[in-house]
Amino acid sequence: MNTELKAQCQQHFTRLAKRGVPLLTFDCPSCNTQLLTTRPGIDQVWDTLSTCWHCDCAFLKITDHYEVRTQIPPHLSNAKQ
Ligand SMILES: [Zn+2]
Repeated sequence: MNTELKAQCQQHFTRLAKRGVPLLTFDCPSCNTQLLTTRPGIDQVWDTLSTCWHCDCAFLKITDHYEVRTQIPPHLSNAKQ
C-alpha cells in the first residue's frame, strides 16, 4: 500500500473516531502494527478479507462487538515472497 493510501486510512479512522463511531483496535497478524476497525453491534459478526495498511499483508478479519480475531489464510501466506 502506498503512503498516500496509508494516510487516507488513518485519516478515515480519525474522522470516524471524532464522529463518535465505535472502533476496535487489533494487531496485524503479520507485523503486529495496531490497526483499527469499526465495531459491529451486539450479536453481529463481520468477517471480511482485510489488508494491513502498514505491511500490505492480506488476512481474514473476524470482528464481533468485543474483539477482532485475525487469521492469515494458508494460500495467502504461501503466496508471500
Ligand atoms: Zn501488517
